[in-house]
Amino acid sequence: MTPKKPYQNFLNNLRKAAKTIKLSPEALQRLEEPEMVHEFEVSFELDNHKKKTVPGYRVEHNSARGPYKGGIRFHPEADLDEVKALAALMSLKCGVVNIPLGGGKGGITVDPKELSRSELERMSREYFRIGTEKGIFGVDRDVPAPDVYTNPQVMAWMLDEHEKVLGYKSPGVITGKPLELGGSLGRNYATSQGGFYILMKYLQASGKKPEETTIALQGFGNAGAYFAQIAHKAGMKIVAASDSKGGIKRAKGYFESKKLNEFKKESGSLRGNFCDGDNCDLEKMRREDVETVSNEELLQLDVDVLVLAALDGVVHKDNAKKIRAKAILELANGPVTLEADEILEKENVDVLPDILANAGGVTVSYFEWVQNRSGDVWEEDVVIQKLKKVMQNSFDDLMKIKEEHDVSYRQAAFILGMERIVRAMELRGVI
Ligand code: GLU
Repeated sequence: MTPKKPYQNFLNNLRKAAKTIKLSPEALQRLEEPEMVHEFEVSFELDNHKKKTVPGYRVEHNSARGPYKGGIRFHPEADLDEVKALAALMSLKCGVVNIPLGGGKGGITVDPKELSRSELERMSREYFRIGTEKGIFGVDRDVPAPDVYTNPQVMAWMLDEHEKVLGYKSPGVITGKPLELGGSLGRNYATSQGGFYILMKYLQASGKKPEETTIALQGFGNAGAYFAQIAHKAGMKIVAASDSKGGIKRAKGYFESKKLNEFKKESGSLRGNFCDGDNCDLEKMRREDVETVSNEELLQLDVDVLVLAALDGVVHKDNAKKIRAKAILELANGPVTLEADEILEKENVDVLPDILANAGGVTVSYFEWVQNRSGDVWEEDVVIQKLKKVMQNSFDDLMKIKEEHDVSYRQAAFILGMERIVRAMELRGVI
């Protein structure tokens, strides 16, 4: 596989969009570099009393529209280049859904699976203590959230550490918190729900009914599992699903989302419910009408929509040509590489890009922040109705741009986000 170069990919997309709308070189230059890059060492004690030191980052890309916003990831391959790219994409994402926030991203290069719970807690607290003392994080300055391998518990530790340093409560400094600490109802499935609204709009625009839509779903973590549930309820037909251990598909028909959850729950992975390594229980597979597929095979199934809810870079230049789905919904960040994008465009596969398709997460994060600042608690249906409106409006706004400039969905999303940020910079007089 080609080496990942996320920031260069972002720049290529940005420059292409800038050319289409004849953006001034000055404005483009502003968007090409983050406003601030913070790099620091995070040292914490292991359970054996030894000290471990890992690199931590927070990149603040653009704040013309509001405080920096974006998740924190713990991943062995997280590095500055990746965090920079993801921070920039957050600025655009918040612009696409038109919420008054800028873009940022944080990360620690670490394998959290190698840490005990108490080690994870000490590391999370230390990262946030440093970020707070350096004046990086703050309710009106930079507001993090969960991302890859971070969750509401990690947000809770970080919030607690922040408030200890400040000496007073400030729940809006971080989102994706547990409900008990000011989290918002609906935040846990917001990414999937938002992606679903985008897919519904897309199907509507293509004259297709949900009941006629077949889906292959890659990734069965939080976003994938919730998406399966929501899509199934709307009548869409999930014919295959996979997680990191491989996938399963229906020989005939489609999966009930409940069934997928049962499979996953029973053995920790979808395929694991039928196979132990290469040793598969053929009788059980026949009984359940299941066939196994590899992750790579799942990507190439002949379905209407391929939903990518796992990792970045899974569709690349070597497999893009083999995609038979008519459309791709990017629930993960960056699952389709730049080279693959170009191939898919030529093959007429529509890619509903991450900065639109997974923006439901940051949208409900924004609602959480609003609730925390006002001290209010919204009911779940209020949150979801508001989310629906935001997602639908964004899709409509994007379609206008797509038609006007005759560009891909990704390029239209870049243009939409970019124009909104540039306008804010102009109003502030920074360009
Ligand atoms: N990490 C998520 C994203 O990439 C959520 C960010 C947020 O809620 O601030 O969009």
